[in-house]
Amino acid sequence: MAGWLSNRALGLLAGALFVGACGRAQAAGAPIVLQVDVSKAPAQNVAFTRETIPVQPGKLVLYYPKWIPGQHQPVGPIANFAGLTIHSGNTILPWRREPRDLFAFDVDVPAGVSSIDVDATYLGATFGQYASSRLATPNILVITWDQNLLYPSTGTIANTIFKPSIVLPGDDWHFATALTGARRAGNVVSFDDVSLEHLIDSPLDAGINYKRWLLWHDGDASAYLNAFADTPAELDASDATVDHYKKLVKEMLATYGVRHWRNYNFLLTLSDAMPGEGIEHHESSDDGTGGDYLTDLASLDRGGDLLSHEFNHSWDGKYRMPAGLYRPNLQIAYDDSLLWVYEGMTQFYGNVMSWRDGIRKADTYPDHVAALYAYYDNQPGRRWRSLGDTATSGPFIYMAPRGYGAERRGEDFYSESELMWLEADSIIRQKTGDKASLDTFARAFFGGGENTGPIVVTYDRADVIAGLNAVVAYDWAGFFHTWVDDIAIHPPDGFTADGWKLVYTGKPSHWVPASNFWYSLGFAANDGMVTDVRQGSPAWNASLGIATTIVAVDGRSYSTDALVAALDEAAKTHAPVALLVRHGDVYRTISLGYYGGPRYPHLERLEKTSDRLSEVVKPRA
Ligand SMILES: [Zn+2]
Repeated sequence: MAGWLSNRALGLLAGALFVGACGRAQAAGAPIVLQVDVSKAPAQNVAFTRETIPVQPGKLVLYYPKWIPGQHQPVGPIANFAGLTIHSGNTILPWRREPRDLFAFDVDVPAGVSSIDVDATYLGATFGQYASSRLATPNILVITWDQNLLYPSTGTIANTIFKPSIVLPGDDWHFATALTGARRAGNVVSFDDVSLEHLIDSPLDAGINYKRWLLWHDGDASAYLNAFADTPAELDASDATVDHYKKLVKEMLATYGVRHWRNYNFLLTLSDAMPGEGIEHHESSDDGTGGDYLTDLASLDRGGDLLSHEFNHSWDGKYRMPAGLYRPNLQIAYDDSLLWVYEGMTQFYGNVMSWRDGIRKADTYPDHVAALYAYYDNQPGRRWRSLGDTATSGPFIYMAPRGYGAERRGEDFYSESELMWLEADSIIRQKTGDKASLDTFARAFFGGGENTGPIVVTYDRADVIAGLNAVVAYDWAGFFHTWVDDIAIHPPDGFTADGWKLVYTGKPSHWVPASNFWYSLGFAANDGMVTDVRQGSPAWNASLGIATTIVAVDGRSYSTDALVAALDEAAKTHAPVALLVRHGDVYRTISLGYYGGPRYPHLERLEKTSDRLSEVVKPRA
């Protein structure tokens, strides 16, 4: 987005305004017929596309979707889009990829031709790639339609209409999607005509092992949890677990007051083979996690905000969308600079809801806040990079290497923004005598006052500031200048005014395990392999680097317990800890003159203050 485009009217009307106002290449009224055949996906991880596109003679440009909503990046998996053959009847039409726009294909449509056929193959099973490239396990498949289609350059996402269908692997495969009008004949399922905008916003999950729970309904409106798993046992969720998700819907509706979906479908894959995922859509979400998520309480607690985060986006992200993310087609670059609202406030509510719905126990919230604050307060990269710049950098920062992440900074517009919105909540509570909170703003700004279908209302930064000022007058412009635009050496600490203080103790917390040595020696490691070193820390000063393996501690094999014991001992004796490390084929011993013992962050109550923090996560429904 060049400048802060405010386009409320366009957003409000987009669904109705553009439908039928067809571009030249697509004949008026004739949809693109799209069939995606995933019958071979479980065994071979490929999907076959057949499209019939109405055209007019002359030069035609077909696009493969590049900028993918919810991903915030140009990650359409074009390297996996293969087998492209374009023909008119038996006549093959040659295509050429545009050298300066690799997602565009030029075709000359001969005189007298009114429709062309496009065949293509999507290659899944691309190991090690970003999760959006996933397709299938032997038992589960996920169709994200944007991976399996081309569309004419002349259309918009709103006025390009598709008639989609899918060929499933067999009659015994179940499916779920937000697409409407499903008609099944054997293993072929066809759906109502739908705009490109809503097609790519409506992924389809299918599988052999399937369970569906009704979470909520009111008249014709409903919310369902659909789960697909590699084994039937992974679907054995207890009633208590399902009740948390019933509560989630109630809590969300209590917060926002209204909804902008007709029927909401959580599409949850449970698999240790398929990569995890969490992609928001207006009337569904594409949620993927490990096989034991619904059956192991520790897994549920750890990933307790997965569904609430994506559900929250139906209001914050899909209904209210930054103008710079609402583009006429899928090739135009996003302006990610308001992701501290879209993702940041969703990170706040996704987590808050995981406590309000009861998945997480109330007494673990303060240490969650402590873990966030401590990480950002010990992040060297914040001396050069603002929070706002991490959001603006969204198109490359998601894919950035993980090594030295604390110096580079990462997707901090999620979790650091959570701290910022907690501070905003605290300010609103203080200034209104606890009569209002961030919920008041959320309800007005992301609720909007009346139930609607999946429409988009765009906003800009000035709208957010005006919305907050409507709740309580404050220098919100200055607030965001301080926390978003400026270098902020310390992150926002709204918890202090909420009655808590940060402390470090030798005891791990619910969220910061014993194996985390970031706040003591100053490094992060996976199974001994160092992934990050905090500049200025004892580990940094001893020349420890990433891609180095810690082999031994004080002459014994490396383990978390061994290093914790060595730190305890060093605190008593003031003798340095010796680490034997290997980098490539070179071994060396480094000496760490650190005597502060293990350190883990916690929040403790400030005496004689009221506890606002606990109010934040109290149920509303
Ligand atoms: Zn999100």
